[in-house]
Amino acid sequence: MVETQLRGRDIVDERVLSAMAAVPREQFVGERERRRAYDDAALPISGGQTISQPYMVARICEALRLTGGERVLDVGTGSGYQAAVLAELAAEVYTIERIPELAELARERLVAAGYDRVHVHIGDGTLGLPEHAPFDGIAVAAAAPGFPQTLYEQLKPRGRLVVPVGSARGQRLEVAVRSPEGPALIHSVPCRFVPLVGAEGFDQ
Ligand code: SAM
Repeated sequence: MVETQLRGRDIVDERVLSAMAAVPREQFVGERERRRAYDDAALPISGGQTISQPYMVARICEALRLTGGERVLDVGTGSGYQAAVLAELAAEVYTIERIPELAELARERLVAAGYDRVHVHIGDGTLGLPEHAPFDGIAVAAAAPGFPQTLYEQLKPRGRLVVPVGSARGQRLEVAVRSPEGPALIHSVPCRFVPLVGAEGFDQ
């Protein structure tokens, strides 16, 4: 997976490549999906949701430019896989999921895989986690209909927000850096994520 799907494309950050090699992806999917855990694809998890394609996880992590000491927020816990990869890359990881059953299962899987220091929250991630802000980086793993201003405001100066923005049918992965002049936007790759549902997301 690391050599062909990540290094073989355009993932160059060695810390991200090592983190992707370290996290046992098969521990974050159900029994039926286990043999496909390292496929170049998103896979179904419960609640009609998905564990993201490995390439998109790596791409999001690389765009955050983490060096190891950061506090990060992961919006859309899903299986917990991306939170585990982030835990390999940053000092403190908070993750938030709107579907309680998914959050509970992710918490169990994170603990079983040795990532018990990841803080799992249940709630509307479009509102961030103001009680734990500011963050050096925020990764959103679901499609937002517009730029998520509340999340942007929970970044530290020079902090980075990575978020798919667009319609429910297709998005672009946007990277915004917090600056005194407002968000410095770097447009990135086309992508397709499940919708971000919430106060600053899509309606249910
Ligand atoms: N990164 C995850 C992983 O590695 O498994 C995949 C996440 S999945 C593509 C997107 C997740 O975002 C779903 O579990 C969905 O329930 C969640 N989600 C959607 N809207 C949300 C919101 N407002 N707050 C928190 N989670 C949300």
